[in-house]
Amino acid sequence: SIAIVWHRRDLRVHDNPALWQASRTGGQVLAVFIVDPTIVERDDTAPARIYFLRESVLELQKAYRTIGGRLAVRVGEPVQQLVALAQAVGAGAVYFNDDIEPYARERDARAAEALRAAGITVHACAEILLHPAGEVLTAAGGKPYTVYTPFWRQWSAKPKPKPFPTPERLEAPTVEEQSFPELAQLGRPFAGELLVSPGEQSGLEQLEAFAREGLYRYGERRDLPGCDGTSRLSAHLKFGTVGIRAVWARTMDAWKQAEHDRDRAGLAVWQQELGWREFYKYELFHLPQLAGRPFRREFENFQWDEDQERFERWCQGETGYPIVDAAMRQLNTVSWMHNRLRMIVASFLTKDLLLPYGWGERYFMQKLVDGDLSANNGGWQWAASVGTDPKPLRIFNPSTQAGRYDPKAVFIRRWLPELEGVDTALLVTSERLPPLMRAQHRYAQPIVEHKRQQQVFKERYRAVRAQQ
Ligand code: FAD
Repeated sequence: SIAIVWHRRDLRVHDNPALWQASRTGGQVLAVFIVDPTIVERDDTAPARIYFLRESVLELQKAYRTIGGRLAVRVGEPVQQLVALAQAVGAGAVYFNDDIEPYARERDARAAEALRAAGITVHACAEILLHPAGEVLTAAGGKPYTVYTPFWRQWSAKPKPKPFPTPERLEAPTVEEQSFPELAQLGRPFAGELLVSPGEQSGLEQLEAFAREGLYRYGERRDLPGCDGTSRLSAHLKFGTVGIRAVWARTMDAWKQAEHDRDRAGLAVWQQELGWREFYKYELFHLPQLAGRPFRREFENFQWDEDQERFERWCQGETGYPIVDAAMRQLNTVSWMHNRLRMIVASFLTKDLLLPYGWGERYFMQKLVDGDLSANNGGWQWAASVGTDPKPLRIFNPSTQAGRYDPKAVFIRRWLPELEGVDTALLVTSERLPPLMRAQHRYAQPIVEHKRQQQVFKERYRAVRAQQ
């Protein structure tokens, strides 16, 4: 009988449990990707992500062909499309990999029900996390953790699953061919540049290059946006063009090959970041309401300013704070931003501009090639001090941050060419950049004064705490 593999954010043939299990049935296997208009048309869908997705699906079609398989593309409401396809080819079973996002879970529950009603077996495979969300719970009470450190302690002590093998040969039924619509047809034209190439092959190459060259030095370089010190695997992890078990296994090989303890220390820091990825997914699984509300519910009453003009200047990178503006221009140009800078601009939006964190969260989703509900929401709630973080009131001073992480203004200069020729000390410590010099260089005057805004934020923060 025929087994269908329904791909969503697992756009690869390696380390793919749904595909592997379907291939083990010994019958024909038909893969499908369904372009879902609800996702494409969302107000916070970045054209960069649709581009990455489309290219990765097209590459996956080729990967299937090389092993004798076939990936069909369909467009429309996913449950209807899936059931119709399964019935058209007479499939006996459908395999797919799990997701943790609220929309996906609701869709998958509907799909499973409709398929079962049609007499088709459903196999939902644990895939997106190294450890399924229900497997890491507090010793006392079996409840989900809401703090990272104890989560990490338990999570990191668990033996990690091995990658799933890639099927060597498949047989596929013939089906009517449909093509993945062009981006313009989908209303998401994209002509920008990216720092990463889409597709499984590029994902694996990037993992390999990072494991050889960057991983050991990650600990010392990860916070410096002026150098390429991080893996840039985020878009690949988002779309599953690399499998998380394969990524982990590669880090363990690197562990064995490390020559110095120092190398292992850098690698351990990187593994912690994979732990954060897992933690935010785990949180969203257990607390789906985080998608629209702060973890600390009392902050629903926080007095944010709804100042559209300030928001626009933040979006465009015209706040007059060079580190913030350089970061926003990186985002607007290459659809990606360095992690340190995400923290700086998010702190600036919430604690200097006093704008609702949800505005920044949505803007990031509209731009980021790696935009991911769980990591983005977690990052924004952390930055706004409304999330699960036990040490909440952290306010970044943009100048201190720039001085520490871009001390020679390498990054600032790269993205703010209008400030060519200005002294490093003035670029880094924005308070010292004189108004006249700003005007001469056609660079913005600061829209707010950090010190003052910090006081206002603290007062409003205390007001919320006092109401409790
Ligand atoms: P590396 O430093 O090489 O890390 C390796 C991988 O670990 C990343 O690819 C990512 O999958 C994961 N990771 C690293 N840091 C985090 C983190 N803090 N939280 C969750 N996962 C992490 N990451 C996204 O993937 N999508 C987002 O939409 C997103 N939005 C963010 C918003 C804010 C406000 C903040 C502060 C962080 C956000 N992050 C997001 C986390 C982090 O900034 C990116 O994962 C990272 O910059 C991606 O670059 P990299 O692949 O080179 O990371």
